[in-house]
Amino acid sequence: SGKLSGKTALITGGDSGIGRSVALHYAREGANIAIVYLDEHEDAEEARRLVEAEGAKVILISGDVASSAFCNEAVAATVAEFGGLDIVVNNAGIQVVRERLTDIDDAEWERHFAVNVHGYFYIARAALPHLKSGASIINTSSINAFAGNKFLVAYSATKAAEAGFTRALALQLADQGIRVNAVAPGPIWTPIQPAGFGPYDPQAVADMGRDTPLGRIGQPSELGPAYVYLASADGSYVTGQTLHVNGGMIIN
Ligand code: NAD
Repeated sequence: SGKLSGKTALITGGDSGIGRSVALHYAREGANIAIVYLDEHEDAEEARRLVEAEGAKVILISGDVASSAFCNEAVAATVAEFGGLDIVVNNAGIQVVRERLTDIDDAEWERHFAVNVHGYFYIARAALPHLKSGASIINTSSINAFAGNKFLVAYSATKAAEAGFTRALALQLADQGIRVNAVAPGPIWTPIQPAGFGPYDPQAVADMGRDTPLGRIGQPSELGPAYVYLASADGSYVTGQTLHVNGGMIIN
């Protein structure tokens, strides 16, 4: 009887951080959950237990979203298990901190785009034939798409590409009743934050949080509700938008 009762959601990067919060909140609202994740992460079984504890059915699908063949398989496995697909959350992402542009080699630049941009495209394209009116695609972008980050040039470029992808696809799918939105988190306490820059360095975390008007870093649990809003009937007239969940770090 939740807001997503009877729906099926596929969440890339659903094992960890922001994606895990989305999985937990969707589970609480009654959705079946497919978690797509990279197998070098060890959090998937823990995520499965936590999502099941919310009363949801869950499948784990491990592989690399930079592969279009894998993305096709992940969507097919989800539909085979649950009989359909209603909500797609493109959220799997990587970031590498580099001080200078000249420190980034071809492979690292291309890997950012392969995972963060191509991965979103491959999953959305595979999902589309299964999506019906009322379905929703939500792309995790970032504050760095808008504010930039001088040590995250490759990452910021991919996050801006995701924001453009979101707007154009929203226009294309509107006449099918499929909504496409983005969430742009500010600094959130997750394992993606590199050492000396994030949660493994309490001082760096405190500094990052102090830059926000709310004066603190965000927790993953503060992201899930935004994704529930966009995926559910609560957000039924919202498409092509970017929802900024960033402690007020940029206001426009
Ligand atoms: P995280 O490291 O906890 O999660 C990243 C997830 O992506 C993991 O679940 C991992 O399994 C998955 N993943 C990575 N590469 C993959 C690949 N090639 N194929 C399949 N899955 C892959 O980090 P997070 O902070 O929760 O990041 C989630 C999203 O939020 C990312 O898109 C990130 O850019 C975005 N974001 C994070 C912050 C932040 O401050 N944490 C801020 C803005 C945006």
